[in-house]
Amino acid sequence: MATRSEREKAQKLNEQHQAILSKMLREEDNKYCADCEAKGPRWASWNLGVFICIRCAGIHRNLGVHISRVKSVNLDQWTSEQIQVYGLFADSSRFNQNVEETG
Ligand SMILES: [Zn+2]
Repeated sequence: MATRSEREKAQKLNEQHQAILSKMLREEDNKYCADCEAKGPRWASWNLGVFICIRCAGIHRNLGVHISRVKSVNLDQWTSEQIQVYGLFADSSRFNQNVEETG
């Protein structure tokens, strides 16, 4: 059973992850779906390190989790590991800076 402080810690971490994700979504490369170039993707294939639109998210889901692992940027909880995949694809020094700034 999680204690109150553990829950608060998890909540805080989630807020940090959301801040990092929304920062990444403001980058020029991430303003369009990686597959169809629709504007303003709000879904992500975190194992591929790309942002995608809701239509392509459905397609990725059908591919299976061994190929693509789809998450909602806003609605799902992200773990540090999942966020770090994006760091590997993005400018890693800048990514680390983001992490330090937010937490
Ligand atoms: Zn798309």
